[in-house]
Amino acid sequence: MKKTLITGAAGFLGSHLCDRFIAEGHHVIGMDNLITGDIRNIEHLFHLKRFDFFHHDVTKFVHVPGKMDYILHFASPASPIDYLKIPIETLKVGSLGTLNLLGLARDHGARILVASTSEVYGDPLVHPQSEDYFGNVSPIGPRGVYDEAKRFMESITMAYHRHHGLDTRIVRIFNTYGSRMRLNDGRVVPAFMGQALRGEDLTVFGDGSQSRSFTYIDDQVEGIYRLLMSDYVEPINIGNPDETTILEFAQEIINLTGTDQKIIFKPLPQDDPMQRQPDISRAKNILDWEPKVHRSEGLKKVYEYFKSLSPDQLWAVHRDFSSNS
Ligand code: UDP
Repeated sequence: MKKTLITGAAGFLGSHLCDRFIAEGHHVIGMDNLITGDIRNIEHLFHLKRFDFFHHDVTKFVHVPGKMDYILHFASPASPIDYLKIPIETLKVGSLGTLNLLGLARDHGARILVASTSEVYGDPLVHPQSEDYFGNVSPIGPRGVYDEAKRFMESITMAYHRHHGLDTRIVRIFNTYGSRMRLNDGRVVPAFMGQALRGEDLTVFGDGSQSRSFTYIDDQVEGIYRLLMSDYVEPINIGNPDETTILEFAQEIINLTGTDQKIIFKPLPQDDPMQRQPDISRAKNILDWEPKVHRSEGLKKVYEYFKSLSPDQLWAVHRDFSSNS
């Protein structure tokens, strides 16, 4: 039986990856320090013999009993309001955390896949973004803590591959949505859906002309799984090229939820990228992967999920990180 370590296991992507690798017959070891993750995302796995959970911060030395075959490093704050509140933790998990996990992979002779991001392209001057675009990132802007941590992650991963011959994979993840996103994490899908459910106006930042391309969680997990099982070591974009402006997107959410909320405009956050669309030729050619779930279908599913949450979760104020810093 294959043994797979997933960091960030209690997070949105991590928990869905735990489900997938359990379904594939692996023994899964989940690890999370629960700083932004939620244990409820994986508690349905606790009764399984093939699932273990370690409450651990991967920026500290990581030890795992037994021999790992695969490591997936998905631990990181991932929403702009999170990494603005915990910038040092964000930098540490992408840098020190990645270093520790690369060392662990070497020790175990394991294959490691690291979760990079479309944020390595920053506010892109090339459209759509293909993997050979180097990006337009401000190292000192508010988003720099995430972007540069992930750029460092890619850099050190390639160094371990070239210098030590480590078996590595790098996925560049574009905006992804689905169940288990925190309703109050500030990202646009839970933000708009939470606002619709609470009867609040939808807050579009700037004039809403900035664009994003949204990928449904099942498509994302499939792309990541295929990449891990491939022999391709250069970064690969996994995202849905179906692009929309944020203003159009707000209107889509209003139509979907059948609410009569108004759209109100708030200031655009600093360094908010103006456009984002993945070029997925590489994923198509190498992994024979492309997204299957249309946005209208995916949004319906995630809306059902958000509707099923308790009033406590719907009305929870944004988490206070002060005790963790
Ligand atoms: N956004 C918005 N209203 C919100 C939350 C986000 O208009 O309540 C915008 C945000 O400015 C950005 C886009 O939606 O242009 C996507 O934001 P998100 O935080 O989901 O992810 P990003 O792609 O910026 O990392």
